[in-house]
Amino acid sequence: MQNASDSESRKLLRRLRAALAEESEGQERLDHITTIIASSMRTEVCSIYLFRDTETLELCATEGLKPEAVHQTRLRLGEGLVGKVARLGKYVNAADAPSMRGFRYMPETGEEAYSSFLGVPVQRLGEKLGVLVVQSRDARHYTDDEIYALEVVAMVLAEMTELGAFVGEGAALSARHQHPVLFRGTVGQEGTAEGHVWLHEPRVVVTNPIAEDPETEKVRLTEAVDRLRVTVDDMLDGAGMTADKDQREVMETYRMFARSRGWLRRMCEDIDRGLSAEAAVEKEQSNARTRLQSAPDAYIRERMHDLDDISRRLLRILTGQGSETGAEMPADPILVARNIGPGDLLDYGRSLRGIVLEQGAVGSHAAIIARALAIPLVIHAENVTTEALNGDPILVDGDQGAVHLRPEDNIVAAFRDKFAMQAKAQERYKDLRGLPAETLCGSRIALTMNAGLMADLPSLDGSGAEGVGLFRTELQFLANRSMPRRGDLARLYGRVMDAALGKPVVFRTLDIGSDKILPYMKRPEEPNPALGWRAIRVGLDRKGVMRMQLQALIRAAVGRPLWIMFPFIVQIGEFRAARAMVDDEVERERRLGHDLPADISVGAMIETPSMAFCPRAFYEEADFVSIGGNDLKMFFFAADRENERVRRRYDTLDTSFLNILEMIVSRCAEAGTPVSFCGEDAGRPLEALGLAAIGLRSLSMRPASIGPVKHLLRRVNLEEARAVVEAARASGTQSVREPLNEWLTESLTRG
Ligand code: PEP
Ligand code: MG
Repeated sequence: MQNASDSESRKLLRRLRAALAEESEGQERLDHITTIIASSMRTEVCSIYLFRDTETLELCATEGLKPEAVHQTRLRLGEGLVGKVARLGKYVNAADAPSMRGFRYMPETGEEAYSSFLGVPVQRLGEKLGVLVVQSRDARHYTDDEIYALEVVAMVLAEMTELGAFVGEGAALSARHQHPVLFRGTVGQEGTAEGHVWLHEPRVVVTNPIAEDPETEKVRLTEAVDRLRVTVDDMLDGAGMTADKDQREVMETYRMFARSRGWLRRMCEDIDRGLSAEAAVEKEQSNARTRLQSAPDAYIRERMHDLDDISRRLLRILTGQGSETGAEMPADPILVARNIGPGDLLDYGRSLRGIVLEQGAVGSHAAIIARALAIPLVIHAENVTTEALNGDPILVDGDQGAVHLRPEDNIVAAFRDKFAMQAKAQERYKDLRGLPAETLCGSRIALTMNAGLMADLPSLDGSGAEGVGLFRTELQFLANRSMPRRGDLARLYGRVMDAALGKPVVFRTLDIGSDKILPYMKRPEEPNPALGWRAIRVGLDRKGVMRMQLQALIRAAVGRPLWIMFPFIVQIGEFRAARAMVDDEVERERRLGHDLPADISVGAMIETPSMAFCPRAFYEEADFVSIGGNDLKMFFFAADRENERVRRRYDTLDTSFLNILEMIVSRCAEAGTPVSFCGEDAGRPLEALGLAAIGLRSLSMRPASIGPVKHLLRRVNLEEARAVVEAARASGTQSVREPLNEWLTESLTRG
């Protein structure tokens, strides 16, 4: 049975719809709407405040307040009761508004005559659009029914604002998504990019917020929820035992929402009030978001994203809008997404100019792949997916972790200047491509590149790298939905070697665990994964996968030299065991009568301090070693490389860190074992100089870093640089960065 307030509410929405359907200017529409709401709700005042920019609300239409105040009265987010409604995303109901804390008197509006106040937020999918207010002379509390009715109207206003129904000339009300917005996030991958927005998941557009027949809408909603439940159940079944605990937890939460009776009931109530099924879904999504957002518990706040996801899925089912909306990807796409999996990112590949994510972590798969593809990436750009529209101009400043959406001309100009300077520098580096990294004192430093994808190989020639010093093989494993097959891997490794045209490629065996989790491999719960079951530890415990990978490498290399490197070796025994596996596989191939590689070099990555102190025999037995500076620094300083709070706290040019590096370098020299350094720091010119100064003669880095590093090394005298390091050590200086920098500036100006 319908109650009276439901039909009242529907009557109001019907009048609104008629007003919206009229051919009129945006301002006229807004004015008309305030009149309708005030008369329907029997209040003297109805006002609509909309956001001018993310911080400022403007009175855009009113019935009852002084008309002169329209487009004049402005409030900051959080200011006055209106600002409070916007900030909290929740209604404020006051019988005696002027006596309320936070009330701000605005004389130009003449509102002193009104005592009671009810304000509700106008918001859509978590985006704050404005505030809808009714006021009356008599000091009364608005009933729950009235609050509900106003919220329903606000939902309709939100949809119409989004659709641009109130945009008009002279109305001083500009369309949404037209202002420039700056997002400050975290650096995921350095570099700058200019392009146009490509939303990974396009916004769902709702064109029918008001519906005539509640029964039809409820049937539509129930059917859509049924379909959603089936999809979620399938997802859970499909994920089976392979999904890890976090994934399962997310899916269980989806299931919980999808089955929640309360959720469905509330949406049906919204429909009874006159909303369409789509608008009801959005209204509940916004309400739940507000509730969850204020939860003190991070876990509960996290569930907000799950709820958003599930609501979005439901909206897609209802509107039939899939991920393809017919929009065409721009020629210079900057991908904007909440988050993205490695497989999807690899599908886009190098077509992307830049990536902006709301979530993600520095060490996430997306970041690893963005880094491998050298695509500028900014993570933690809050709300970017609600603000950005497909095709919007956008600048990504991966060096600063900033994103400019719809930037002003002066920002674009400054950005382009920076680009031009970078391009000029790159041109200069191009001329160095065929030249060695030879210092003024005659030392030669071998510069090789880090890679992880077939697509990286063209950079070998482009950058002038002398080979691939680190090929991270885990990317193929991470990007696949199931364990790759030996044959496929062998073909891929073979193509990598072909593309290297005889230059050496050092293949690092699977380095998983810690931050790199294979979606299809069950892993144990670990209190601290970085110190847990990772890299060679997994390889030695689960021999099948490593054996398969070794076979693929041996088969790919027939007739040519092969370099195999084991990650995260922390004691001599692990190296011996891993090496024995290579010997076994070679023996097996021989028995099978297969051709073998021309030569096999087996090396180890040094990523923990333990290896600086291990028996000399290790250095004698290893054919080569490579220092994994990223991990070594993390364990040396006990500072998580993925923790923003501490990851930049300790300097690579810290004298104690240089001491351990030098110790490893000299132990290698004693044993006659080649050593290189392949952490990210090798690609930073001043760090590279410091590493060369203490004796490293081989550095492996991102291809784009080879030019700048070579450019610097060719202009310095390493003996002088070494003297600076020695002096700094002798005087007890903590980091050689400053003295090295000072010397460098002086030496470059001198030379
Ligand atoms: C390192 O730890 O320095 C390294 C090169 O390996 P990854 O960054 O892949 O852990
Ligand atoms: Mg490492």
